[in-house]
Amino acid sequence: MEERARRGKVGTGAMAAAEQAEREVARLGTGAGRDVNGGAEAAEFGAFPEAGRPTGRPTGRPTGRADVVIVGGGPAGVVLAFLLARQGVEVVLLEAQGDFDRDFRGDTIHPAIMELMDRLGLADRLLELEHEKVPEVRYLRPGDERPFVVADLARLKTRFPYLVLMLQSRFIGFLLEEAKRYPNLDVRMRSRVQGLVEEDGAVRGVRYRSPEGVREVWAKLVVGADGRFSKVRQLAGIELRELSAGTDVLYFNVPRRAEDAAGAVVDIHFGPRNSLALIDRGTYWQAGVSIPKGTYQRAKATGVGPIKEFVGGAVPWLADRLDGALGGWKDLTLLSVKIGRAERWHRPGLLLIGDAAHVMSPSGGVGINLAVQDAIAAANLLTEPLRSGDGPTDRDLAKVQRRRSWQAALVQGQQIAAEGDIARAFEAGEPYKAPPFLKALTRLPVLGALPAWVTAYGVWPERLKRSLVGPRPVRRPARGV
Ligand SMILES: Cc1cc2nc3c(=O)[nH]c(=O)nc-3n(C[C@H](O)[C@H](O)[C@H](O)COP(=O)(O)OP(=O)(O)OC[C@H]3O[C@@H](n4cnc5c(N)ncnc54)[C@H](O)[C@@H]3O)c2cc1C
Repeated sequence: MEERARRGKVGTGAMAAAEQAEREVARLGTGAGRDVNGGAEAAEFGAFPEAGRPTGRPTGRPTGRADVVIVGGGPAGVVLAFLLARQGVEVVLLEAQGDFDRDFRGDTIHPAIMELMDRLGLADRLLELEHEKVPEVRYLRPGDERPFVVADLARLKTRFPYLVLMLQSRFIGFLLEEAKRYPNLDVRMRSRVQGLVEEDGAVRGVRYRSPEGVREVWAKLVVGADGRFSKVRQLAGIELRELSAGTDVLYFNVPRRAEDAAGAVVDIHFGPRNSLALIDRGTYWQAGVSIPKGTYQRAKATGVGPIKEFVGGAVPWLADRLDGALGGWKDLTLLSVKIGRAERWHRPGLLLIGDAAHVMSPSGGVGINLAVQDAIAAANLLTEPLRSGDGPTDRDLAKVQRRRSWQAALVQGQQIAAEGDIARAFEAGEPYKAPPFLKALTRLPVLGALPAWVTAYGVWPERLKRSLVGPRPVRRPARGV
């Protein structure tokens, strides 16, 4: 918390050059430029000769066995770990970081996720944690009399007609606290996967580095839920098809005051050259200012003046804090927005879900919803093969991809179209205007709820199978070291 307060005071303080700007990449250490099968990682492994190369045959000395090893404690990995553990599947969850407090992630819990929580009997307890409920997503343009409500969730017939805004770390912490009652779930923090264990063309486990050294877990299935820079995807040799995102985002932090407007967080402010979204990080606001892709150097040459002017004009109650928060370009972090999709989400013994399978742009705030729905689909299709026998076949894994990939493709198509329109408006120096058909649609009596429905549920929401709703007795704990 102290660390957060410090960051909230005057911004993150440290991004000078565009090339370095993906701070997250640097932080995770999984980014471009690292040689997957050699280079830095081979050198690291050199200190542990028994571990061999990052990807290779089993050493014969596993330090853990499980039915499934899930790599990545984001929304996709944690929800899948939780759903499988409740069914008595032995799960090892490996998370590279020491906690779940993430910069540059969404904090939205959509109605589809709340309905899953409700089905599991957890919704009421989850809502006892600090959160805000936001019933509308709005677009604001200078000079408009009223904001355009693009998604009015209050129109939906659900117990949860709103977005829940809750720190992602709080949501994930809640699930893991609940999961403590399942001794067959073994969560290992500070455990960064660096290699796959393979035999006869199939993935049999992972090798990871933890404070205790290099470890190896063997399992019937490895799930890569390790986000957009997925190491598991790289190690498996699965290509990511990059699709064209239209914008990049510059972030900076502004201190939060007790009297600040709650719920301002899902308003999108459009100006002639930028848009602004505010993310509530508890003790500070994370302000994300969009710029057309490829214009970073131009924006940098112009300096922070126009950004301050735009943000202060769009959100006047922030204006008096901007000089302190955005003193210069060093206070900004560039997040290079990516959209991409793995052509194949699986190999024998391995499955990708969430951003590892389909990298989402932050636009529309739908990535967490899709990631969680992947986890539900995987639980529906794979619980039985994991509980009994040798684990899922490649055909079982292909079913998960078949079920989920077209939905990710549709949502990404919509993100690309919207970002393209927004970037073109910026280039023309005009605040983006929602297309007339969308405005007309939202005025219709029943169909008008469609944008809200899509925001809440995506394209084809996954529903946890009835047989997986109640927990099953635990067979035995996951066998860790
Ligand atoms: C700036 C920004 C804002 C966003 N805002 C929203 C929003 O408001 N709403 C929304 O729905 N979506 C939003 N998104 C998208 C959303 O964050 C992602 O789609 C979502 O987090 C994907 O979940 P995931 O579980 O697949 O991956 P992630 O959340 O990325 O989790 C991956 C996890 O894997 C861990 N990991 C990585 N490598 C390894 C390794 N080698 N070994 C072990 N662990 C590893 C990471 O530490 C991380 O915890 C936003 C994205 C960005 C970039």
